[in-house]
Amino acid sequence: MSNAIEYVHAHEIIDSRGNPTLEVTVLLQNGVSGSASVPSGASTGVHEALELRDGDAKRYGGLGVLKAVKNVNGPIAQTLVGMDATRQREVDSRMLILDGTANKSKLGANAILGVSLACAHAAARAKRMPLYQWIRRAYGLPSDVYRLPTPTMNILNGGAHAGWILDFQEFMIVPRQRRFAERVRCGSEVFHALGRLLKKKGFSTLKGDEGGYAVKLARNEDAFKHITQAIQDAGYMPGKDVMLAMDPATSEVYDAKKKRYVLRVDKKTLTSDQMIEMWEMWAKKYPIVSLEDGLAEDDWDGWKKLTERLGKKLALVGDDFFVTNADRLCKGIEMGCANAILIKVNQIGTLSETMDAILLAQQNGYAVSVSHRSGETSDTTIADLAVAVNAEYIKTGSLSRSERLAKYNRLMEIEEEILAEAPTS
Ligand code: PGA
Ligand code: ZN
Repeated sequence: MSNAIEYVHAHEIIDSRGNPTLEVTVLLQNGVSGSASVPSGASTGVHEALELRDGDAKRYGGLGVLKAVKNVNGPIAQTLVGMDATRQREVDSRMLILDGTANKSKLGANAILGVSLACAHAAARAKRMPLYQWIRRAYGLPSDVYRLPTPTMNILNGGAHAGWILDFQEFMIVPRQRRFAERVRCGSEVFHALGRLLKKKGFSTLKGDEGGYAVKLARNEDAFKHITQAIQDAGYMPGKDVMLAMDPATSEVYDAKKKRYVLRVDKKTLTSDQMIEMWEMWAKKYPIVSLEDGLAEDDWDGWKKLTERLGKKLALVGDDFFVTNADRLCKGIEMGCANAILIKVNQIGTLSETMDAILLAQQNGYAVSVSHRSGETSDTTIADLAVAVNAEYIKTGSLSRSERLAKYNRLMEIEEEILAEAPTS
């Protein structure tokens, strides 16, 4: 029977931080259904699409999403019923028209995204394809080779994800083994070696929002000292088997009035130029392959200089800087800012707009890193998305916390499936 949408339903669920979010189910007339749930950021970029929260202080401290749920079950459902779920672009653009605002403030990007992703899941099932294959088909991408992304694993958390014990938010390892499953194993072994090392040195081994250690160090840079040691303790070679990456999320420490970056832990206040010098120094000292949001979200001139200085050596990834937005990416391409983009589905709010940002990036030689949010659920859509577009990287947290591991586990499952189909690749 038909792939027409029969019914769309959202309800409130709880995310990895214990805050409400939406889960959406799309049911088709042929009886097939798909579901998806919506992630949520803490260090959000100011240019992100609007996450609709109830603001009712008596419920979940104002973070309820019943308004967004109502928007799905009311106007969005009414508009989409009868539409062909396999026409993802049409479904998404119908929601954009219904919303009619630039940042999805009428219906909420969380409401729209839940429906968009659930629709993709339902369509994939209807087509009897794994989601990664269906996304490729739905957007007309060449369907020959699948490449698993390189994981960037956030094993030491700071910033807004760990009570600001460090100024910088994410210190990541990038295992380089051939198979994805081997990279997960390596990541897990290094993560545990780091835990043992921190314990031995008398530090806390509590964890932050993304499952990495949240440890109060004397200087931000010490994070990489300990991680490098842990890589060796686990029997790997830093710079060969395992590289490093970081997301300092500097929009969070930028004082826009004074145009200065305020590093409390290091007791330093730096200009954009001084930040660039610092990153150059770190890139010389450590085997760093990727630096995300090394400068603040509206420091365009700084980003241009940063790219001139380090763009040949590192992936310079725009997260808060680009917010998965093709318009901002376009400006970045024109100005020569960054050489990679972080992709977060809820920054923009539909799968189709997400794909637009990815395709624009790829056409212009920008690397793609598909990413989780600090507030996550067990939803694994981003794992399939990363494979669908042959993303260079996936960023989905540490080697602990099931909402992070769900994505790694899904990628290992996909790898097995792909290898079974093409044993020689
Ligand atoms: P967020 O952090 O999900 O809290 O925004 C992740 C990131 O900055 O990459
Ligand atoms: Zn980031």
